[in-house]
Amino acid sequence: MHKARAAIVPVTPFQQNCTVLWCETTKRAVVIDPGGDLDRIKQVIANAGVGVEKILLTHGHIDHAGGAAELKDVLAVPIEGPHRSDLFLLERLTESARAYGIGGVRNVVPDRWLDEGDQVTVGELSLDILHCPGHSPGSVVFVHRDQHFAIVGDVQFRGSVGRTDLPGGDHAALIRSIKTKLLPLGDEVLFLCGHGPASTIGDERATNPFLR
Ligand SMILES: [Zn+2]
Ligand SMILES: [Zn+2]
Repeated sequence: MHKARAAIVPVTPFQQNCTVLWCETTKRAVVIDPGGDLDRIKQVIANAGVGVEKILLTHGHIDHAGGAAELKDVLAVPIEGPHRSDLFLLERLTESARAYGIGGVRNVVPDRWLDEGDQVTVGELSLDILHCPGHSPGSVVFVHRDQHFAIVGDVQFRGSVGRTDLPGGDHAALIRSIKTKLLPLGDEVLFLCGHGPASTIGDERATNPFLR
């Protein structure tokens, strides 16, 4: 089995968990959700001694996608994800950054949109894509089935779920996404989320008040 490794870098004033994920066999990596603070992300890449081959986006919010266009230029790699229904968010990143007083953010269009059932590869690892609308219409989750972990963006958190008061948010759709796509992954699955600590599907199934 090809082993996956991950390092988390909290970025932006929103303390978003940018994740550098790599294949231990090949030392090939992806950067998931480079929202900003690219110097810190580049430091983690250098420390890990890995070569980045693509950028992945879980969804189109600024804290996740705000640094993607610049990092793509720096690393000369393609961007994959999210689902195309987040295009309206990616097209207004600059505008939304200005509203938060953040400069230097560019709009971005990915090289590949992702959809339910797609796969993305990094080195010899393969990640399955789940389309999980609700927090945003185009949110996707990356699942590594062999090692039982997932990267869920802002769909679910430890003890909570993603907010749905932003444009395109839909609380009923979010709960449906979690119940029909994340919970069936299995109790042993560990997930990394966009903000705060990691958790497992089993812990959330047992204790998350939003999933009762
Ligand atoms: Zn978000
Ligand atoms: Zn976020």
